[in-house]
Amino acid sequence: VKRAGFPAPLTALIDQLKRLPGIGPRGAERIAVWIARSADARPAALAEALSAVAERVRPCPRCGFFAEPDACAICGDPARAGGPICVVEQATDALAVERSGAFAGSYHVLGGRISPLDGVGPEDLGVPRLLERVREERPPEVILALGSDVEGDATAIYLAQMLAGAGAKVTRLAQGMPAGGGLEHAGELTLQRALGGRREV
Ligand SMILES: [Zn+2]
Repeated sequence: VKRAGFPAPLTALIDQLKRLPGIGPRGAERIAVWIARSADARPAALAEALSAVAERVRPCPRCGFFAEPDACAICGDPARAGGPICVVEQATDALAVERSGAFAGSYHVLGGRISPLDGVGPEDLGVPRLLERVREERPPEVILALGSDVEGDATAIYLAQMLAGAGAKVTRLAQGMPAGGGLEHAGELTLQRALGGRREV
């Protein structure tokens, strides 16, 4: 006899789920089977939420933070205009700084860090856009809120040189930031201290 497996739509769903970060083959199967068995509106609500994010959430054209659909809530806030710019690797890092409550300026999301081994150079990180912003907006300070590992250091050193060339006062978070893991893994208190103890570079 022919051995039975999952029907094609379920297999296709499992294949999609497996590619998501943090979900392995077993987890993908469990979620897919749960969806197949759900008799209520939850699968439809999930599908709707997925489409809404895919269609409406974009990186903010000014700062790179999550935006819906044009400007983000941070760039749209007049109370933050004219304040310092905090440079972070990922949009989730900006959220971590927001949660610390210790910063009231705007952000600039690089989308990564300089990593020659992974083929990521300055031009991949929107550095020209950042320099353009600094020349136009003349922020009182640019804070580099990057991880304190080798690649975070290399990125900070490079940015500090470029930003100083653009006439900015550049500071960096105090040491004690988690290496590599991203600011989202730092506690609120750690971030508050790191922001409070930032030093000029
Ligand atoms: Zn923005």
